[in-house]
Amino acid sequence: MRRSRTLATIEPDFLGKWEYAPAPESTSHLSIRSSYDLFIGGKWVSPKSKKFFSTINPATEETLASVAEAGAADVDAAVRAADRAYEKYWRRMPGKERGKYLYRIARMLQEKAREFAVLETMDGGKPIKESRDVDVPLAAAHFFYYAGWADKLDYALPGRKARPIGVCGQVIPWNFPLLMAAWKLAPALACGNVSILKPAETTPLTALHLARLFEEADFPPGVVNVITGAGATGAALVTHPKVRKVAFTGSTEVGKRIQKSAAGTGKRLTLELGGKAANIVFADAPLDQAVEGIINGIYFNQGHVCCAGSRLLVEESVHDVLVRKLALRIRTLRLGDPLDKNTDVGAINSKMQLEKIKELVQSGVDEGAVLTQSGCVLPSKGFWFPPSFFTNVAQSFRIANEEIFGPVLAVQTFRTPDEAVEKANNTMYGLSAGVWTDKGSKIFKISQKLRAGVVWANTYNKFDPTSPFGGYKESGFGREGGRHGLAAYLEAE
Ligand code: NAP
Ligand code: MG
Repeated sequence: MRRSRTLATIEPDFLGKWEYAPAPESTSHLSIRSSYDLFIGGKWVSPKSKKFFSTINPATEETLASVAEAGAADVDAAVRAADRAYEKYWRRMPGKERGKYLYRIARMLQEKAREFAVLETMDGGKPIKESRDVDVPLAAAHFFYYAGWADKLDYALPGRKARPIGVCGQVIPWNFPLLMAAWKLAPALACGNVSILKPAETTPLTALHLARLFEEADFPPGVVNVITGAGATGAALVTHPKVRKVAFTGSTEVGKRIQKSAAGTGKRLTLELGGKAANIVFADAPLDQAVEGIINGIYFNQGHVCCAGSRLLVEESVHDVLVRKLALRIRTLRLGDPLDKNTDVGAINSKMQLEKIKELVQSGVDEGAVLTQSGCVLPSKGFWFPPSFFTNVAQSFRIANEEIFGPVLAVQTFRTPDEAVEKANNTMYGLSAGVWTDKGSKIFKISQKLRAGVVWANTYNKFDPTSPFGGYKESGFGREGGRHGLAAYLEAE
């Protein structure tokens, strides 16, 4: 019988030498406009600020489109349009009817899945297999899920009457632009609220194309408004007095600033912020599967994931074997054209983010950690960083504490389950964690002690619209997803 060659038995020299033919996804079905206005009150309006900025493809540095930059007067117009739509249409509409609109968006997203996946990949740099298989299907699933709640809200808060809050200001980051738009809009609209969505400066295009779907789906004008711009636009939105609810996903630093500005205003607030998750591997875990989970945990989406498993805590007795397997495995990861269907690791989202990653990686080297990189060739244009991990990491090093938000893992060891829990919890964040072990009882014991909003067991980075997601400590507060996600958008009487 022919012995199959598993990864562990492949001689290192073979790795990285097998080439695939290029398999780029076509872009011919996509129409990117040269310029995008603001979507306010159901219309595309040019910005009163008269300013525009460019969004580029981070894999090629080519300009994709010029996008309006909303100033304070534009933000005010959007909030007023939303407020009118709330009073005139949306708060009065029966939940059953609101649900129909949301189902329409979910189906349209499915119909246009390829267009959205390609656009997401071009604007943000993530591999097409992720935008196609993760971002877009999950975004549609969120609309389907919350459409189902629209006429059942009284059951969401048993014994209490649920009513909407009003105008929501929703600000999202660049790592999952369409998915974060869906996480924000679907529950807000299902609950009878109206929204002004502000996507990130580097990735505005899928939110703008989503606005086109709201237009095509005949939403009452002003129920959804999409305004583009940078941090100042977001700040003007979240501090606007008519905004009753702020939902923010982004950095802890900006989240804190928003929390301060909201203090004493009576605005409702949810914050989904940074993370420094521990992925804990016990010696009894199936190690090859754990390696795949670690890879998915940190190199998925170039590590641009708030819940990325960016710290690997491995039981000391299997440290050497696991690190060797990891070193071999990262050499097989294919980095390059994000539109190629075989690409595993795409482009870093922006030059600024690349500089941040490089600076933190240098600090790791300077502090004495040992850096292992995949050795892949980086394209000459665009922003790239090779899959990397650090061993010999002390708890005090910056790479063990600060969010790198790139494809860089910090490996540490532990000897006992208690030490694993202590190290995992020794962070200002608390968004997620992972546990790898063959023993079910250990999973329950450990996961209950971890101060993290999501704990994955023998898997990593799995998402579902029915499951709540959110942080402990400086990773934020409030939950998105599932029945819990409705509470952020309802007042209970
Ligand atoms: P960021 O600077 O906080 O930006 C997030 C969003 O807020 C962007 O749309 C940004 O606009 C806007 N913004 C910037 N300054 C603002 C202000 N003063 N007031 C209101 N809005 C403002 O974060 P980022 O660097 O883009 O994103 C990466 C961070 O997000 C990471 O730390 C990551 O952990 C976190 N994140 C968390 C989650 C989660 O679910 N917990 C999910 C994804 C990302 P511009 O981009 O146009 O400046
Ligand atoms: Mg871009």
